[in-house]
Amino acid sequence: MKTIFIDRDGVINKDPGGWTKHEYVTEFKDFHFLPGALDALRLLNRNRMQVIMISNQAGVSKGHFTKKRLDEITAMMLAEIKKNHGKVTEVCYCIHRNEDNCNCRKPKPGMLEAAIKKYNVTPRESHMIGDSEVDILAGNAAGLSTIFVLSGKNDMEEMKKWKIKPDYIFKDLLEAVNWILLKEKRKFERSIRREKKGKKR
Ligand SMILES: [Mg+2]
Repeated sequence: MKTIFIDRDGVINKDPGGWTKHEYVTEFKDFHFLPGALDALRLLNRNRMQVIMISNQAGVSKGHFTKKRLDEITAMMLAEIKKNHGKVTEVCYCIHRNEDNCNCRKPKPGMLEAAIKKYNVTPRESHMIGDSEVDILAGNAAGLSTIFVLSGKNDMEEMKKWKIKPDYIFKDLLEAVNWILLKEKRKFERSIRREKKGKKR
């Protein structure tokens, strides 16, 4: 099964920076799905693509909200996704701060590597979709193709300053997913054509 790794804040929901008290989603009322995000998840599910969410939530270790609260927000998010016929196989969070020096906090690829191993994913055939440099760095370090979306924290000007550039850039998750699905469709059509040619010989 093809797997798509997706960052949460700024890709699935409106980035909490600048308008929430602690710059984190600390309660579900601050979780706003971005336009097209639920449609994108439904399309991925319909096309049998596995979705794994990969998100830094250091606000837990900083004491802005509890792990229990984070789990409640996740449950409500997943219920809404399910209601819209989407599916998320696993939601992976790193709740550590920079100074904790863990292996999971993006830009480190720890969460991605663990999921790649667990679900037997072929990295070069999968994508990491995110709105920040840390997503692109982590995805790149894990051997994934990287997609930067402009629906979150960063614009093109910011991106130009990054150490590593994304492989692809799209307006938002829905645009990225449509492109992935088109690419898959073309690949499938090519394989059918090859098969027909083989039979003729
Ligand atoms: Mg983000």
